[in-house]
Amino acid sequence: MNAITKPRQATAVFDHPEFDDHEDVMFIRDRATGLSAIVAVHSTALGPALGGCRVWPYAHPTEALQDALRLSKGMTYKNALAGLDLGGGKAVIIADSGKDKTEAMMEAFGAHVDRLNGTYITAEDVGVTTDDMDAVARRTTHVRGTSAIGLGDPSPYTALGVFEGIKAAARHVYGTDDLSQRTVSVQGLGHVGFDVARHLHEAGARLILSDIRDAQVDNARSRFGAEAVSPDQAHAVDADIFAPCALGAGLNHRTIPDIKARIVAGAANNQLETAQDGVSLKERGILYAPDYAINAGGVISIALATEKGHETEVRAKTLQIGATLTEIFNRALGKDETPETVADEMAEERLKHAG
Ligand code: NAD
Repeated sequence: MNAITKPRQATAVFDHPEFDDHEDVMFIRDRATGLSAIVAVHSTALGPALGGCRVWPYAHPTEALQDALRLSKGMTYKNALAGLDLGGGKAVIIADSGKDKTEAMMEAFGAHVDRLNGTYITAEDVGVTTDDMDAVARRTTHVRGTSAIGLGDPSPYTALGVFEGIKAAARHVYGTDDLSQRTVSVQGLGHVGFDVARHLHEAGARLILSDIRDAQVDNARSRFGAEAVSPDQAHAVDADIFAPCALGAGLNHRTIPDIKARIVAGAANNQLETAQDGVSLKERGILYAPDYAINAGGVISIALATEKGHETEVRAKTLQIGATLTEIFNRALGKDETPETVADEMAEERLKHAG
């Protein structure tokens, strides 16, 4: 054995800025398959901790730890606010999904998930496919999003929830959710954004569409007879509602001053670049639908899915997103707070009662 050496700068957990009394943090190394992973269970106060598994080529394990801690806490809040009897967790696998990920690696990951005895339930996230979850399912039953369990792609449910959220925001601002007189700028026409645009089109809204992929824009324009705008102008067009459905951090000090819409409500995760940006939206009189409240349809579809699917239950729970947002907006108005502050408070209230 080597002489005891002074440890190098360690990957500290308890004093990590993202550590929030997480119940469990598991570091996994399986040399045979090359698996290096971290599973963070933030809270099981409401039930088993559900959260996806992300495969990403993190440059350093500290970045993986940061993601696992931050995203697992985010899942606790998201699941609580969505009214699910589930806690929050997240797994990250340090690997390039295109090069390093193998079936054996995912099976080994499944075996480690199984060791958590159901306190953590895994599912798909960035860099993970249904086939990967099928490999995980060979070693554990604590998994969703496999080809045998569930409703398949969660995006249609995310889109349905976003549409309900847009209607709730319209009711709050305009007193009606009749969208036939409204113009909506949808930024990002991928799995979710395209379907949000379809719902809006069917509700009679006028659409302004944008995506960095021209083919997506052409396809949506021909389907919905909409206008197109360059993606970097999507927030600044003359619209009643701006629906960010692409990437995060699109609401920031550079974009907020140019927003003409009275409502920002879309699917993208982490839309606010900083907490101050939420305050800036409020100061400008723009109603913001907190991202993790409005885009919960996908996690609802994963959480409630069984071998039989349970489509009716999933749809019913997803439609409740509108009512949740109405409560958030009303409380925010009454307390003169930002909607995202109120959303956090509502999630914490549910956790406190469970505790
Ligand atoms: P996706 O990859 O299918 O679609 C994203 C689209 O945005 C693509 O068409 C892409 O070309 C486009 N895009 C990228 N950068 C852009 C830019 N700068 N301007 C305009 N368009 C741009 O992803 P998705 O599954 O539709 O998810 C969209 C957003 O919603 C993401 O932020 C995701 O994290 C979030 N979200 C998705 C789900 C889900 O069920 N898929 C659930 C919750 C949250």
